[in-house]
Amino acid sequence: MKIIRSPKILNALLTRRERKIKVGFVPTMGALHAGHLSLIERARKENDFLVVSIFVNPAQFGPREDLDKYPRPIKNDLALCRKAGVDIVFFPEPRLMYPEGFTTYVTVEKLSDLLCGASRPGHFRGVATVVSKFLNIVSPDTLYLGQKDAQQAIILKRMVSDLNFPVKVKVMPTVRSENGLAVSSRNAYLNSREIELAGVLWEALNRAGELIRGGNMDYQKIISEARKIIAARKGIAVDYFSIVNLDNLSRADNKNRRVLVALAVRINKTRLIDNLIVCRR
Ligand code: AMP
Repeated sequence: MKIIRSPKILNALLTRRERKIKVGFVPTMGALHAGHLSLIERARKENDFLVVSIFVNPAQFGPREDLDKYPRPIKNDLALCRKAGVDIVFFPEPRLMYPEGFTTYVTVEKLSDLLCGASRPGHFRGVATVVSKFLNIVSPDTLYLGQKDAQQAIILKRMVSDLNFPVKVKVMPTVRSENGLAVSSRNAYLNSREIELAGVLWEALNRAGELIRGGNMDYQKIISEARKIIAARKGIAVDYFSIVNLDNLSRADNKNRRVLVALAVRINKTRLIDNLIVCRR
């Protein structure tokens, strides 16, 4: 397994490859867990060559967010990648990704302002910019993303299509812990009581899913019922609980057969997100 820190070197190595070698790419911010590993395993199976990036991307953090305290257990991450059969870990230095004078950003309009975008201005601009850079540096055949970050996946698919990136995007199911809590690097900020408490998010999503599948189309009522389940447990502040259209993230109406139930909450200072795709009968 090679560890490469320079975008130029990785770019030179991969752009001159034989076209018949299939390259899979999994972008991550590190602190690797079972969710990341499910993407890595799938990409390993489906490609001849596998690149994983580990980069805590400063451009997607707001000024008062957790950039400095974001976990960076790089030794353990590299060991996990080696064990999973990764060919290259791209672990770029921030100053090489954003050198002095950097001023070019990619914005996926509208979609980036909704849901998480409303409370994290600039977040998805940072994500779209870094992923554009990665796609140019790595030129993968397939990009692997997680459903856990549903809005991110929708935005990046839009970007790939709008800007004609020659890459296929695959979105993998959310890996959960026993109580249903979506596995996340930020779960490291939670204590055991908070982890137990966060299990209620999966309960609330499932209740909404059950009602929608059962034919209930009064989404406002469903949302308030699901919010009540969360409110019954003290210590969770809901940022949003929404039922939206999967293509444009606008409020779902009765025409949408498949909808996205999505939420963001705060437990103490930790922001958690989760979602469920529901198919109406
Ligand atoms: P991150 O390191 O949080 O930026 O995540 C890197 C990739 O892993 C993204 O595509 C995420 O959607 C995906 N991911 C994170 N958590 C999970 C999970 N619990 N299940 C599946 N994929 C995940």
